[in-house]
Amino acid sequence: MPLLNTKTSDLVKSYLQDKSKKVAIITHVNPDGDAIGSSLGLFEYLKNIGFLTVSPVVPNDYASFLKWMPGNREIINANDSTDSAEKVLLEADVIFCLDFNHPDRSGKLGEVFIKTKAIKVLIDHHPQPEESFFDLVISDTEVSSTAELLFILINSIDNDLSYINTNVATCLFAGILTDTGAFSYASNNPQTYIIAASLIEKGVNALDVNRKIYDTYSENRLRLLGYCLSDKLTVLPNKKVAYISLSKKELEKYGHKEGDTEGVVNYALSIEGIELAAFFMENNDEIKISLRSRHSIDVNKIARTHFNGGGHVNASGGRVKTGLKDAIAKFEKIFESDNIINNT
Ligand code: 5GP
Ligand code: MN
Repeated sequence: MPLLNTKTSDLVKSYLQDKSKKVAIITHVNPDGDAIGSSLGLFEYLKNIGFLTVSPVVPNDYASFLKWMPGNREIINANDSTDSAEKVLLEADVIFCLDFNHPDRSGKLGEVFIKTKAIKVLIDHHPQPEESFFDLVISDTEVSSTAELLFILINSIDNDLSYINTNVATCLFAGILTDTGAFSYASNNPQTYIIAASLIEKGVNALDVNRKIYDTYSENRLRLLGYCLSDKLTVLPNKKVAYISLSKKELEKYGHKEGDTEGVVNYALSIEGIELAAFFMENNDEIKISLRSRHSIDVNKIARTHFNGGGHVNASGGRVKTGLKDAIAKFEKIFESDNIINNT
């Protein structure tokens, strides 16, 4: 089983020595399965080792297909409970920052985060961490997910894994499952499966987790997906780029709820020959963009350069304040030069 270096694990152990310390756990805006799974996995683990005050905080709401995880009821949503979220961050002794690597990614929480005196520990797998904001950076772009890295961290500080009970294991498994698209991408490393297997040994019901995440569509969500695929899919003339877009009006027509468009972009990428896919969604006063790619096409770079965003080489996102049409025009323009797919 992999381990972190001794210096890192000794530092984390020293932060976790005094169980009366107040701990906060924060993650990025629009939390996904890895953000929620790793936050609640760490929450359950810290309670198991004896911490009394552990508060998982998210910047805003998340998909209902993630709301079944152990500890979910303890999550503080900073959008609804701004004052208590701020209080938690300002009073914390240690803040674990999961699945993001720059305070900007944590929305309003990022501003409070910068002000706190707490020790800040980053656990993340995105490229280019903003190291200056954190006291300790545990970052590895080779792991599938933050949940996988958290398992490695726990294994390094507690190497008989005795405090990983079924609750911790279930949350971490959900994080790995969602960030690999059910073991389809970022899935070539045997370590991911070894860790997933040991989580199943800890009591995870993998069938049940799969069903709760992937087979709990509302009728509206499935019909919205059908509409995206039949009416809203555009393939560019180069046959290598495809995108889907949804306006606010279209989202409203299908009674859109948080998380309903999760995964839509992957359908555009599933066409044979498509190397890069995008999904555009009108969201309040901005357009949210999701990008996915194959092989070495770097959509993190495209998101950073054109859409005020970032992410991974093959999965990134961003946002622009222009309208939907302008955002799509900007996107199409990137591919006007013939070689963009090879040169990004
Ligand atoms: P999604 O398209 O599912 O929202 O995001 C895909 C990936 O890109 C995730 O790893 C997410 O953390 C990252 N990402 C999405 N939006 C942004 C953004 O606005 N800024 C940055 N830095 N990363 C983003
Ligand atoms: Mn992740």
